Amino acid sequence: MTRIDSAKGAYDGPLITVRNLVKVYLTPAGAFTALNGLDVQVERGEFAAVIGKSGSGKSTFINMLTGIDRPTAGEIFIGRRPIHALNETEMAAWRGRNLGIVFQFFQLIPTLTLVENVMLPMELNGLYVNRRERRNRALSLLEMVEVAEQADKLPSAVSGGQQQRVAVARAMANDPPLIIADEPTGNLDSRTAERIFNLFEELVAQGKTILMVTHDDELASRVNRTIVIADGEIVNEYIVQALAALSQDQLIEVTRYFEPRTFARGETIVRQGEHGAEFFIITDGKVDVLVEQPGGNEMLVDRLSRGHYFGEMALIAGSLRTATVRAAADGEVSIVALDGVNFQNLISDSRSLREELGRIVDRRLLAYRVQALAELKVDQLQALIGRRPLDYYPPGSTILRQGSLGDSFFVIVEGEVEVVLDQVAGPVGGDEKVLERLAPGQFFGELALLGDSRRSATVRASGVGAKVVELDRAVFEELITSSEQFRMRLEDDAAGRQERIARHSAPAVSGDA
Ligand code: ADP
Ligand code: MG
Repeated sequence: MTRIDSAKGAYDGPLITVRNLVKVYLTPAGAFTALNGLDVQVERGEFAAVIGKSGSGKSTFINMLTGIDRPTAGEIFIGRRPIHALNETEMAAWRGRNLGIVFQFFQLIPTLTLVENVMLPMELNGLYVNRRERRNRALSLLEMVEVAEQADKLPSAVSGGQQQRVAVARAMANDPPLIIADEPTGNLDSRTAERIFNLFEELVAQGKTILMVTHDDELASRVNRTIVIADGEIVNEYIVQALAALSQDQLIEVTRYFEPRTFARGETIVRQGEHGAEFFIITDGKVDVLVEQPGGNEMLVDRLSRGHYFGEMALIAGSLRTATVRAAADGEVSIVALDGVNFQNLISDSRSLREELGRIVDRRLLAYRVQALAELKVDQLQALIGRRPLDYYPPGSTILRQGSLGDSFFVIVEGEVEVVLDQVAGPVGGDEKVLERLAPGQFFGELALLGDSRRSATVRASGVGAKVVELDRAVFEELITSSEQFRMRLEDDAAGRQERIARHSAPAVSGDA
């Protein structure tokens, strides 16, 4: 009883499950393996792009899903249905009701009108028995794709873009949950391609699942999942996720150089202070990022999981590792490593990746610096500083001016600043005195927040300039109340600074008197 009920109950697993799919073509030249043990799952409602070099096996994969061709080994389930086990008759009946297929070259039947092309799958599958009903449904589908006015023309009388829109309408004829398209925009200009893509977006919004092979980077970047095929295998999706800023060609090229590695729980992957030679992407498990404290303690500053990368900071800056990264205590970690030379090639080839890495490096440095000041938990800190941008000040530029009003304080993330007192009232008017130089991890601007909002000294970038983050009063107060360490450090520093300002201002005042 229970068994029957559960068998009839709604199926809520993945819509597509492919396991160890192998396709070997027998050619006069010998056996050729086009798919080499491919595994993938696609969830209901996903809009997935399938990308890969020409000849990588995309069409072979798609043809196995649609049943146009048969696997040599492996399993394909769509919903609960084992596609690999259906015979031709079962396959044809199942496909007609459950699958919409769109091809690169439209494949409309040239002797049927557009509306007849859309009606044909309904006739073959007997879902809509009445001819009137079929015609009305076909016309409303042609309306959806905006070619209803041409309904009674032959395919040859309309443009390629219109033929492809009809092909999308035809794919929807029996209202299938899944649409599979092999380079549906490959033969269209970019404006027409955009219209087809928009139609797909609407169908996904209505709850359909779409798998689309495409060469178009711009379109591929707009779907919610990218499946990359290289040499008949699926490229690990977390590598794809981590490198989303790359173009298809760059992504496919670089994945050849990644080397998989595994680390036991607690094992160190990179060590602070060592030379950095590799870049890493996590494909499974979690890592802890730790920074050494002046007292010798390690502080947890971040926790990264699959799809995240690390190791880029030292490689970009050509410096030593700024943190220690260790496999988390709760399990093994799988990563892929890219050597320094290939990493440099990658970022010199990809401006978008370079920019993204720059932003990530900034955010991570900021988190490490503020963390070192306040010793807050990672998530608490992230909630507090959010995604605040870093400001870069070139050497000599003023960050805040003595006497001006201010309601923020600053943390130095990189570079150096000097704190300067203008002695306008002194005997040597306009003279100035450098009170202090501050380095990364130190803060300034807090005196105005503690006092009457007036800046008591000028701060400007020195050396090679400074990268700072400006934090408002609310963050300041939150830090004071939630971090004892920050409050104590602030009190110490502020007292020392006030004392120095008073000492250097004093002679000027007495000289005046
Ligand atoms: P893609 O769609 O990614 O360009 P395909 O799936 O069409 O690639 O082809 C993958 C590989 O399999 C190619 O090397 C291709 O030459 C080969 N191949 C495809 N179909 C056949 C076939 N029917 N017989 C022999 N080899 C084939
Ligand atoms: Mg192909």
